[in-house]
Amino acid sequence: MTATPVPAMIELQGVAKSYGDVHALQRTDLSVAKGEFVTLLGPSGSGKSTLLNLIAGMTKPSSGRIVIDGRDATTLPTNQRGLGMVFQNYALMPHMTVFENIAFPLQVRRLPKAEIRLKVQQALDLIQLGHVADRRPRELSGGQQQRISLARCIVYNPALILMDEPLGALDKKLREQMQLEIKRLHAELGITMLYVTHDQDEALTMSDRIVLMNGGRIEQQGAPDALYFKPETVFSAEFIGSSNLIPGTIEIDADGAYALNTALGRFPAPAPATAMKAGDRAVLLVRPENMALTASGNATSIAGRLEDSILLGGVVRHFLRCTDGTTLIVQELNQPGRTGAHRGDEIHAAWLPAHARLLPPAPAG
Ligand code: ADP
Repeated sequence: MTATPVPAMIELQGVAKSYGDVHALQRTDLSVAKGEFVTLLGPSGSGKSTLLNLIAGMTKPSSGRIVIDGRDATTLPTNQRGLGMVFQNYALMPHMTVFENIAFPLQVRRLPKAEIRLKVQQALDLIQLGHVADRRPRELSGGQQQRISLARCIVYNPALILMDEPLGALDKKLREQMQLEIKRLHAELGITMLYVTHDQDEALTMSDRIVLMNGGRIEQQGAPDALYFKPETVFSAEFIGSSNLIPGTIEIDADGAYALNTALGRFPAPAPATAMKAGDRAVLLVRPENMALTASGNATSIAGRLEDSILLGGVVRHFLRCTDGTTLIVQELNQPGRTGAHRGDEIHAAWLPAHARLLPPAPAG
C-alpha cells in the first residue's frame, strides 16, 4: 500500500517576477504540503520576499500560476486568499489595547461579541500573555509585541501563515525563545507555515523543509539535515554551516573510485551526487567538525601550521595555514583532554574519506 500524499496547501507553477530588467524571481515551481513548515532561506536580494509577496497577493506575477488550498489564487486579492501574515515590524495598532488588537480581525469578520471574547482569550492563553490583555503595545517588550502579532494572526484560524523575518528586530536570546514558541504553535495548531529568514540557524531550528534561494531561484531544497549533510553546490555548502573547500581535478581509478587531485595532495572521496568525469574541475568539501588535529598525517590529511585557536564555548575552532596559503578550519568539542596544540605548531588536519563530498566548482562571477 502506498502512503496517501499530503495535499498541497501552496502550489507554484512556473511563477516568475521581473521589475524591468531585474529578475527578482526566475521561473519557479514549488509545492508546500498542508501542515508543513517551510522556510525560504537565502542572502539579501535572493528573492525570498518576492516569492512570499507573490503568494500573499501583494505582488502580481509576471508569469505562472499560484494555487492556494486547491483554488487558483493567481489574481485573487490578499484578503480572499485565506492566509495570515506576520512581519518584522509588528504592525500593531498603538491606540488599541492588546485585547482590541487581537479582536480586530474578528470584528472585521463580524463575529458575535461573546465568541470574540472567547477566541481572543484562547489566543492569549496560547502565547501565554493573558495578563497583558489591557495594556497598549508600547507598554510591552519587542518579544511580547511580536507574540501579540502572532496571536492576532492565529485568532481567526487561517490555514496558512506567511512570516517575513518576524524575529529580525529581536535580540539573540529572545529570538531563540520565539523560534521555539512559533515551532510549538505550529505543532499544536497544525497550520501550514511559510517563513522567510536570512538566518541559517533559524531555518535549521524551525523548518520541516528549507528552500535555499540564490539569485532569484531555488538553489537547493530539503530537510535541514539533508541540506547540511548533502549540499549539492558550493553556495549551499557555504551558506549553511562552515566549510573547508579545496579545489582540484577529478580522478577515477579502474575500480570507479573517485579522488580529487589538489595542490595539497590527492584525496579519495565518495562518488559525487552530480555526474563528474575524470579531468573535471571540482571542489572537495569537508566540514570543520569532521576534521581533527593529529600529530602525524595519513591518506586524508593536510599538514599546516596552527595559526590560531578560538574558544566558542562548547567548541574550539582551530585555523591551520597550509603550504599553498589555504587556511583550514578544524572544529573540536571543547572538553577536558582535547588536542593540546599550540599556536605555531606544525600539525595535520585529518578526516575520514567518507566525510568528504565532491561538489561542482562554483560558477564564475
Ligand atoms: P530578499 O527578500 O531575498 O532580500 P527580494 O525578494 O526583496 O530579496 O528582492 C529580490 C530582487 O528583486 C532584488 O534584486 C531586489 O532589488 C529586486 N526587487 C525587489 N522588489 C523590487 C521592486 N519593487 N522594484 C524593483 N526591484 C525589486
